[in-house]
Amino acid sequence: MSWTPEKIELLTSLWNQGWTTARIGEELGVGKNAVVGKAHRLGLPKRPSPIQRRTEDGESTKKAPAAKVQSKGISIYDLGAGMCRWPFGDPGDDDFHFCGKKNVPTKPYCDEHCAAAYLNGKSPREDGPRNGPRGPGGQRAPMPSKR
Ligand SMILES: [Zn+2]
Repeated sequence: MSWTPEKIELLTSLWNQGWTTARIGEELGVGKNAVVGKAHRLGLPKRPSPIQRRTEDGESTKKAPAAKVQSKGISIYDLGAGMCRWPFGDPGDDDFHFCGKKNVPTKPYCDEHCAAAYLNGKSPREDGPRNGPRGPGGQRAPMPSKR
């Protein structure tokens, strides 16, 4: 069997889409090993997982300092670029902290919390719960009894 430019292009594209080698082989009518071998020769990168797609995001290449992460988590002051900003607890609490794991490029959260945020069907919280039980908010507009 021969690798036509067409097949190579298809291989590359399916590879980048994260297809399994077996599946790509099926599509191209070649064996899985042929796919792996050809991809290797083409210098194709390891296939990205569907979640962690490589981007040319500068932050993703830079390693976030993970040394500061304690069991308690990290405060907003320790929260740096490339760290998951998923909040734990109430902002008024002493033990309020952020997740602080390495985030997914282009996302404010780590893998786990991306999944949590987007599975909920809600838009991700940007800076924590807005009105905690201790918050001064919750002011209600008085009923207009007089005018
Ligand atoms: Zn997280």
